[in-house]
Amino acid sequence: EAGRSTSPLVMDTQCPFCSVQCKMRITGEFDGKRMNYTVEGQPNAASEGRLCVKGMNAYQHALSSERILHPMRRLPDGTFERITWKEAYQEIARRFYEIQRGFGSDAVGVYGGGSLTNESAYLLGKFARVALRTKYIDYNGRFCMSAAASAGNKALGMDRGLTNPLSDIPLAKCIILAGTNIAECQPTLMPYFTRAKEQGAFIIAIDPRETATTQMADLHLQVKPGMDAALANGLLKVILDEGLTDPAFVEGRTRGFTELAAHLEAMDLGVIAGMTGVPAELIRRAASAYGRASTGMVFTARGVEQQTDGYMAVRNFLNLVLVTGKIGRPGCGYGAVTGQGNGQGGREHGQKADQLPGYRLIENAADRAYVAGVWGIDPSELPGKGVSAYEMMEKVHDREIRALFLMGSNPIVSNPNAVFVEEGLKKLDFLVVADMLMSETAKMADILLPASAYLENEGTLTNLEGRVLLREAAREVPGEVQHDWQILCGVASVLGRGRYFGFRSAEEIFDELRHASRGGAADYYGITYDRLRREGGVYWPCPSPDEANSGRLFEETFAHGDGLAELLPVDSRFPVETACSEYPLYLTTGRVLSHYLTGVQTRRSPSLAAREIETFAELHPRTARRFKIGEGALIVLETRRGTMTARTRLHTGIREDTVFVPMHWGDGQNVNRLTHPALDPVCRMPGFKVCAVRVEPLVTA
Ligand code: SF4
Repeated sequence: EAGRSTSPLVMDTQCPFCSVQCKMRITGEFDGKRMNYTVEGQPNAASEGRLCVKGMNAYQHALSSERILHPMRRLPDGTFERITWKEAYQEIARRFYEIQRGFGSDAVGVYGGGSLTNESAYLLGKFARVALRTKYIDYNGRFCMSAAASAGNKALGMDRGLTNPLSDIPLAKCIILAGTNIAECQPTLMPYFTRAKEQGAFIIAIDPRETATTQMADLHLQVKPGMDAALANGLLKVILDEGLTDPAFVEGRTRGFTELAAHLEAMDLGVIAGMTGVPAELIRRAASAYGRASTGMVFTARGVEQQTDGYMAVRNFLNLVLVTGKIGRPGCGYGAVTGQGNGQGGREHGQKADQLPGYRLIENAADRAYVAGVWGIDPSELPGKGVSAYEMMEKVHDREIRALFLMGSNPIVSNPNAVFVEEGLKKLDFLVVADMLMSETAKMADILLPASAYLENEGTLTNLEGRVLLREAAREVPGEVQHDWQILCGVASVLGRGRYFGFRSAEEIFDELRHASRGGAADYYGITYDRLRREGGVYWPCPSPDEANSGRLFEETFAHGDGLAELLPVDSRFPVETACSEYPLYLTTGRVLSHYLTGVQTRRSPSLAAREIETFAELHPRTARRFKIGEGALIVLETRRGTMTARTRLHTGIREDTVFVPMHWGDGQNVNRLTHPALDPVCRMPGFKVCAVRVEPLVTA
């Protein structure tokens, strides 16, 4: 590294591991034998100079000796041989051409990721539609933000993760954290909440298990997995019954209240308490605290959203925000706490099946015409709407999709029903994977392309506040590694579509993105690299280079044509799979502090891997006794879809009917071998957060 230079190697960058995008300086010094690295947080828009343990160790995987450094071809025995870029591009062009000639353009699919920069996400969408002319493109962000995004769009007319800047959090007098474990997933945000507490805020956490986040709360509602929408109904019912709505706000800024009120009128709090497992008295206490507070904020994350009624569940929490008028002013708002590094920007610029850049819709004629104009093609050349990420895996299984181009994602581990997904991917005629490290999916690639890491690639990311940040390149690429955009331009060129992909830098791509997003909901037109360098970060929407917004949305009006927010009655439903005599417990999944997504990067970091070297199953000691299981014992978990083994951790903080398993490991430790593939009917989010499971001690011969 750094040619064993005696002068320190200084890398200024942003942590790639979550949506806070903490800024940091990594300094490497050679002591005569090895490089030693120190990492310091640097103040930026959101992080205020803090770093968590993931950020402190994020250099390790990027500098790992396990990086993929050259294009490779998989041989029949499963090993890889090194090939040149020219050979890789020619083989990709030949195979894609053959497959599309035989089975049509849509026989090739594209699959992206929410950790890609805005430039890569934008270009991947254009690559699918213009270079490959396929309708099949989606990405792992479908599993991250689709429920909150759909709910925000429908209720408020716009989807931006947080409706307020983070600096509003300490101004809130009551905060509801629903299905979000900020202390482990976005740790550097915690001081915003502790500051709120110090200033008198009452914090309510909703989670089936006790976590470092719920420990901070004043009240923990230990909801049954999958019953968040019903719990929100309980909170709403109390708020209406006790007259804690804001009538002027409801009258002047919303529509649909009469129907919502009638729907809640018919509900019984005792029934809701029974369904959710949360005592009526606690529901009353929480509703009263939120309803009576002068200011308040509600945050949701995957605990609420990764359900087959995730869209409706988020709508119901938005109902809560709206009927109390707690939005659009300091200390009042809603936030969907994004998980992935670019979970926000990654969903705005066209790698989602139904979207074009700037949050334009692929099925809207005017949107198609506008984007086609920017791209220099006829609107009729643009493919139509494809399907969601898991549905793409079904198409792979059915052989409708015969080749896949995959960038920055590990679908074998991240999709639900992983055994089915793996079987499908084995049927592919041709799989191309661009990644920086060997993942469970990359091992199956026919052609493997070495992609650059966050330390090397320049680009913008949009943090959870909707603030666009520029991450500059901090070092040269190693080996023959290329940036995502160079790979996409290279493949487009050999496919004969190079004239649409003549970019020479990430900044040139961003400039085209600005124009493509102009006038759309996520309008980046007024943002430039120069401006980002000068100002540090700029919130969207930003339609003009001379304008800036405070980050607080909906102060006067919502983004629907009539300026009103929409209230919607939400039913209290049970999950698609409930516990029964055969599968008597609920399985729920989530994250741990030291790992990120499917663990491809964090499992390569010795310091992070050492903190959690393997998966585990958390269950209540009484549940363990019931199934004759001890602490630290190996157990088998089985659902109707698959099995896995894990070591137990007994914890009195989890519900007795629930088992928790984290999501960061593959192969036999992959919890998604067990999860249910049913999808939310609106946003196509899988119900990762609840399915029925049985557990038993592992019996070894
Ligand atoms: Fe910051 Fe998130 Fe990285 Fe932790 S994981 S350092 S909170 S960006």
